[in-house]
Amino acid sequence: MTTSQDATSPAVLARNCPNCGTDNLAAPALAYSWQDWVLKGCSDCAFVYLENPPGYEALVSEFAWERNHGDRSERMREEYPFSYNFSRAWKKFRRWAIRKPNKLANRIATSFPPGPVVDIGCGSGDYLAALPDEYEPLGVEISEELARQATERLSKRGGKVYAMSAVDGLAAVPEGTVSGIIMRSFLEHEQDPTDLLARAWRALRPGGATIIKVPNYASVNRRVMGDRWCGFRFPGHVNYFTPQSLRDMVEASGFRVERFGLFDRFYLSDNMWMVACKPDTAA
Ligand SMILES: [Zn+2]
Repeated sequence: MTTSQDATSPAVLARNCPNCGTDNLAAPALAYSWQDWVLKGCSDCAFVYLENPPGYEALVSEFAWERNHGDRSERMREEYPFSYNFSRAWKKFRRWAIRKPNKLANRIATSFPPGPVVDIGCGSGDYLAALPDEYEPLGVEISEELARQATERLSKRGGKVYAMSAVDGLAAVPEGTVSGIIMRSFLEHEQDPTDLLARAWRALRPGGATIIKVPNYASVNRRVMGDRWCGFRFPGHVNYFTPQSLRDMVEASGFRVERFGLFDRFYLSDNMWMVACKPDTAA
């Protein structure tokens, strides 16, 4: 990996394919690239990724989620008022039509044994604060401001928040101790997803599990909406998973995929959900 810097932009990494390591620097950028942000489809494994993500230092404040989050809605409203309104109305309809139960709470209850649960990118701790009592809430959050808010909230129930990158946060958790790891809308932001998965595996105790939610690049909506698809966020989203590439990467890290059925990766949904566990070899 190389680092480059000029006067106007923060340090960026020029990275190889995060899935297989192929150097695609010379390959042409995908048409989905936006402004200075270069999207590549790997010439070897076809994985789609942002080649020049901002460095971790930039994420701490400049590109922090709480500042970045509104960007896309504003861009959409300005550039495509019709699709923006249509997409809002469609979402509302879909929510009404599907009325699904809380997917995350459901998966936690069925796949995490009692004990410490880490929420990667916990934000201000909304979700951790609502965990059932048998779970000890641990948060990892790179944004200093959000980490401060989460600490304030979780200290009341004995929780702890690591104000660091996901990779460092998982390294700080004692090895083999964690019952569950939540990676909700996170893996698509991680510059080194295979390293993160390896660390998650290490942090988990045997029998523990991780719940992963990421945008589905293979969704119908991406094909129909093209560069207006809601999964495209620059420079926030740096990895674009399909059901197959997610499964391959998770299994290559030693996990066993427990739950990834048709409706967890439904082609009409923009997102997919996976539950993967660290097998309990003693059991
Ligand atoms: Zn590749």
